[in-house]
Formats: sequence, structure tokens, C-alpha cells
Amino acid sequence: MRRRRTRRHRNIRKVEKAVSMSDLLIKLSGSRFGAGVVKLLGLPAPVELARSEGPYAEQPLTGKKILLGGSQNGYAMERLRQIARDAGAVPLESADGGPDILIMDATGCTNPSDYRALYDFFHPLMRSIARNARVLMVAALPAASGDPIAAATARGIEGFSRSLAKELGPRGATVNLAYVASDAIDRLVGVVHFFCGVQTTYVTGQALHVTSQVAAPASLVYHGALKAKVALVTGSARGIGRATAERLAQEGVQVICLDIPAASAALHETCRAIGAIPLLLNIASPDAPRQLMDFFKERFGRLDILVHNAGITRDKTLANMKEQSWDQVVDINFSAMAAIDRMLLSENILRDQARLVYLSSISGVAGNFGQTNYALTKAALIGYVAAQAPLLAGRGICVNAVAPGFIETAMTRDMPFMAREIGRRLNSVKQGGQPRDVAELITFLCTPGACGISGETIRVCGQGLVGA
Ligand code: NAD
Repeated sequence: MRRRRTRRHRNIRKVEKAVSMSDLLIKLSGSRFGAGVVKLLGLPAPVELARSEGPYAEQPLTGKKILLGGSQNGYAMERLRQIARDAGAVPLESADGGPDILIMDATGCTNPSDYRALYDFFHPLMRSIARNARVLMVAALPAASGDPIAAATARGIEGFSRSLAKELGPRGATVNLAYVASDAIDRLVGVVHFFCGVQTTYVTGQALHVTSQVAAPASLVYHGALKAKVALVTGSARGIGRATAERLAQEGVQVICLDIPAASAALHETCRAIGAIPLLLNIASPDAPRQLMDFFKERFGRLDILVHNAGITRDKTLANMKEQSWDQVVDINFSAMAAIDRMLLSENILRDQARLVYLSSISGVAGNFGQTNYALTKAALIGYVAAQAPLLAGRGICVNAVAPGFIETAMTRDMPFMAREIGRRLNSVKQGGQPRDVAELITFLCTPGACGISGETIRVCGQGLVGA
């Protein structure tokens, strides 16, 4: 009996190891034989997702075949057409060419009969949409209309987009929705570049608002726009923080990488690799805000980008949770960030036009078993950015949160096998995201082209079912 159990245990370990090794299922599904085996066993068959390795190109959609559709009386079509042209995309007249990008201007949908335009555009195309295609839906801001039917009609497009994302996700395609105010259509440029570009990889099934609440900078182009900006990325010795620091450095940003003294070796290694400046500091120490203020005042006189990435988990059910675990999570994941912001904003170190990005989590959207403390803080960040955005809009400052789902990092590697496999597969693309995927969204939110987006929380979760 004992021997049988040991053998079983060994077999389980073997399967665990195989599956956790850089996601064996993706590799298997990539070959004809492997795909057959995966199908036979009834396993999910994730496709290899398209990713970018370099900085933003001057024309981010170069050579991509794009098809635009629209409902009658939409107000964004002309602008979208021009943005696509300027970005180097190749316009298609019909679906015959197998489009890489589809954009639907649904701003004219003001009553249910207008929905037919969505069916007429997408239905004939569904079988020819390419792997890793990008779909961007553009709709009117529901709140902008005084008419309940028009508002409801606009809001319905969200249900359509999220469902389409689920249908196209297995192909590695993304579908996102931008609600745009009629006075903010110029701000669609950055939105199109990102959500129709390769960098969107693990961001799908999202709906965001594009408004004119923050004054637009002179240029909205994102190629080269971050050169010589000064950025602080907290918790950047490893994981998502490190990937973000690397990604920003690729854009020519002077990055300051912060982490706790215990992570010194890894932090210095990150900094050496990307030419960043290391800063050893516990963000939850009482004098951290002042130390940061002194540092930036002396070295740069300013800070342009602040990525509040450092975060911890101390998971236990509430019944088993120790006071210390509760307090630590609240201190590091929320209180410390708010204290740092207060100091840097009031002392004008965070200047006009600055960009602030916070790492929330899908646990903060939906809650999670054993994470009452963690989800509390991550939900608090969602509320924090929504409340801060209008207060800082007058200074041209954008404040947003990103909420990762299952990302392949040290944090998720330490999860029990079954919980990890469930987290990894329960999403529309049937796989975990990479730290780089989160870094791409953060970097985009730091660009001038994202000036229409503030107060939002955007998930990077492959449309994870948690918080769906
Ligand atoms: P990670 O544990 O790999 O890295 C976090 C880094 O923050 C570490 O280097 C750590 O030393 C640092 N840090 C912790 N406490 C600190 C403090 N007091 N002062 C300074 N630095 C501190 O985490 P990750 O997976 O890269 O996640 C990064 C962020 O994204 C976290 O806020 C996390 O909650 C969030 N997130 C991650 C996932 C995921 O799947 N990995 C999912 C949702 C949200």
C-alpha cells in the first residue's frame, strides 16, 4: 500500500515537473504529433502567443492587414482610418485577405437595431481571422448619453466584446473595447497603437474609458517619447518589476530600481544588465517617503514615472491568519504607496504630466480564497486610482492600475501544483502570462499616447475566469 502510494506520488511529481517546465503544453501543441496527443487526452491546447522583444517601432502596425467596419453615424471612423494609415497598416477592402487587425467603430450604436452592424461585420469573418489577430471595438461612453436606451446599447457592446474575446482567445487573438468620448477621439492614437499592436499579447477582454479629462501633451506619438524620462520601479529585483524596468530602459528611460536590502544581489544584477540605478529601501519603513524625496531632489530634481510594483502575499484563510500577516500586507501593498505619493506629489517631485501605475491583481477584482488581506489591498488600489485621477487631471497626471492574472513569476511558481495549473489554464488563451506582458501594458500607460486613460484598472490576465 505504502509502495503504491510512493509510486503514485513519484508519478505525480513527474507530471508536475513536465507541465511546469516553461509550459510543456504550448510546446506540445505546436507540433502536429503533439497537438494530436493533447487532443486525445482532452487537454487544453494553448497556441504560442506573439510577443515583441524590442522598443516601439516608428510605425507600430507596419505591414499589418487591417479591416475597418462601422455602424451608421459613428463619430470615430475617419480618425481611426487615419491612425491606421499613419501607423503603417495595410487597409483591406474586404475580409478576403485574412485580416490581422479588425477595428469596429460602434460609436453609432444608439439603439438595439444598430447591433445588426456588429453581426454583419464579424459573422462572415469569424473563420478567417488570423492567429494572434487584434480586434479593437470602439463605442460611445455610456454615461455621456442622457438617453437610457442609448446608454444601455453602448454598454451592451461590452458583453459582445468579452464574448468575442472568449471565442477568439484559443487562437491567441485579443479583443478589447475602448469607450471613447466624442471630444476625445484624437486620443485614440495611442489606444490603437497598443491594442492593435503586438504588445497587447495577454491583455484581452478588457473595456476601458478614453476621455479628455487630462490635458493632452503636444505629441501623442509613442515611438521615442519616453527618452530621458526618469522612472522609479519598486520591487524590481525580479519578476514583473524587473521586466518593467527592462522594458522602460529599452525606451531610453533612466530607471531607478528599488528593492529591499535582502534582494541586493539580484537588484544589482538587474541594474547592471539595463544601466539602471539601484536603490535599497523598504518602502514600508517610516522614513521611506522622505528618503525618496531627498534622493530624487538631489539626483534629478524630478520624477516622471512611478511604478508601484512592490507587493507581497501572506496567504491564509481568515480563521488562520496571524495579525502580523494582515498588517504587513496592508502596510506594503497599500499604505506605503499612499505615503510615498503624498510626499512626492506635495513636494512637486512628481511633476505635471507624470505617470503613476499601481500593481493591483485580479484577486482585487474578484476576491480569492485565502487572500482576504491581499485582495483587500489590491481592491483598495483600484479605488485609489479612480479617486486620484480627477484630482490630478488638472496637472496632466495620469494614474492607473494594472491587474495581472496568472503571471509566470517566483510568486506563482511557489503555488501548489493543482492551484498553479488551474490558475494557468482558466483563461481564454489557456496559459499563463509572462512578466514582459505586464511590463508592456505598464510602459504603454506611461506614454503620452495614453493621456486619455486615467483612473482605470486594466487586467493583464488572458481574460482569466477569476474576476471575469
Ligand atoms: P515577486 O514576489 O516576484 O517580486 C516582488 C518584489 O517586490 C520582490 O523583489 C520583493 O523583494 C519586492 N518587495 C517586497 N516587499 C518590498 C518592500 N517592502 N519594499 C521594497 N520592495 C519590496 O512578485 P511579482 O510576481 O513580480 O509581482 C509584482 C506585483 O504584481 C506585486 O505587487 C504583486 O502583488 C502583483 N501581482 C502579481 C501576480 C503574478 O501572477 N505574479 C498577479 C497579480 C498581481
